[in-house]
Amino acid sequence: MAGADRHPNIERMVATRASAGRGRPGPADVAVAGGGVIGLAAAWLLARAGHRVTVVDPEPGRGAAWVAAGMLAPASEAHFGEEDLARLLVAGAARWPAFAAALEEASGQPVHYEASRTVVVAADRSDRAALDQLLAFRQAIGLESRRLAASECRRLVPALSPAISGGAEVVGDHQVDNRALVQALVAACRAQGVELVAQRVVRVELDRAGAVRALTTEGGEVVPAPMVVAAMGWRTPELAGVPPGCLPPVRPVKGHVLRLRAARPLLERTVRGLVGGRACYLVPRRDRSLVIGATVEELGPDLRVQAGAVHALLDDARTLVPGVDELELVECSVGLRPGSADNGPHVGWSEVPGLAVATGHFRNGVLLAPITAEAIVAMAAGAPVAPELAAFGAGPRAPETTPASP
Ligand SMILES: Cc1cc2nc3c(=O)[nH]c(=O)nc-3n(C[C@H](O)[C@H](O)[C@H](O)COP(=O)(O)OP(=O)(O)OC[C@H]3O[C@@H](n4cnc5c(N)ncnc54)[C@H](O)[C@@H]3O)c2cc1C
Repeated sequence: MAGADRHPNIERMVATRASAGRGRPGPADVAVAGGGVIGLAAAWLLARAGHRVTVVDPEPGRGAAWVAAGMLAPASEAHFGEEDLARLLVAGAARWPAFAAALEEASGQPVHYEASRTVVVAADRSDRAALDQLLAFRQAIGLESRRLAASECRRLVPALSPAISGGAEVVGDHQVDNRALVQALVAACRAQGVELVAQRVVRVELDRAGAVRALTTEGGEVVPAPMVVAAMGWRTPELAGVPPGCLPPVRPVKGHVLRLRAARPLLERTVRGLVGGRACYLVPRRDRSLVIGATVEELGPDLRVQAGAVHALLDDARTLVPGVDELELVECSVGLRPGSADNGPHVGWSEVPGLAVATGHFRNGVLLAPITAEAIVAMAAGAPVAPELAAFGAGPRAPETTPASP
């Protein structure tokens, strides 16, 4: 809603905050429904900006971001027909170095932000042709990558199979340890005075004028606040108490991820690949673990780990990096991405005064957490959000493309 930033709820909040300053007693300025990577990042930056913030989530930090791979990959996630999204991903990635440094300082915990370049490879000649087309598209929209012969790929990543047919080095694709990240966000929120309520939100309470007044939890607790951020990932549309159609129609998109452990490091940098047309990635961590992912499955809210998906991921990963065979398989997990109609996020004001939305980040919620959190802080101050995010807005949108990977 274009004019919602001028609603009396937000004006009152801005005025109260300016006169009272941080650390004052009393109810929250902002209640955040959902403490995933998006809700926690928003809560931390809001508290740092002087707001009193309450996050309501039965398990903060344990949503899709706990399962994710932590790639910050604006180039590898740019797909045909998604130029607006590609611009947003680039803007989101630019926030990361400062965000990671500030978070480490605030939490006293490392998040292992790594700016090492990603290598993208093709398993065979037809994968190479598909990859070349994608690289040409990415270059045309200004995303830098350097094409490599198979031998050059292997010089950069000695563990690659001799059978790969070539690839590219991608300059702007980096990574963070997603689990360390959400743990650091919880610690930074606590250090900044954010209240964490371990309950499930059921509804938003509105006042007589139809503006946000409070959140109600499953346990019957009422969290009063003039601004609510709906950040429950794929469950955001379940938030009750608001008029029909005011929350965007995000859906759960299932993804399997595997975690393996090595006695000594197998890879020094992230490898992404196409194997028989299927996307696969291998992300090395500092602790010598290796994250392999990920499937993209339209199966609704299905959290079962399925043998076929695990088999396919391992098969593709060992096709690219045969040394995977020697590793210990320590975890197979499933996460549910908040998918939108056009793969772009929904961030902004809803039609309900005081109700902000931050969801639909699909495959890039970790990458987009800092720019989204920054936008929520701007909204709480009655200011505009970054133009790359404003291009998407908060409301429902029609689909534009079908995703293809890597
Ligand atoms: C397999 C996989 C791999 C991925 N890899 C990457 C990657 O490499 N890079 C990247 O940028 N992104 C990646 N993603 C995407 C990223 O994880 C998501 O986009 C991101 O986690 C979305 O953040 P979120 O906070 O909106 O949702 P979530 O992280 O899902 O968090 C939602 C939170 O809301 C809470 N919640 C739900 N219902 C309620 C309720 N009723 N009341 C209170 N709280 C509630 C949940 O407990 C949860 O904590 C991946 C995702 C998956 C599944």
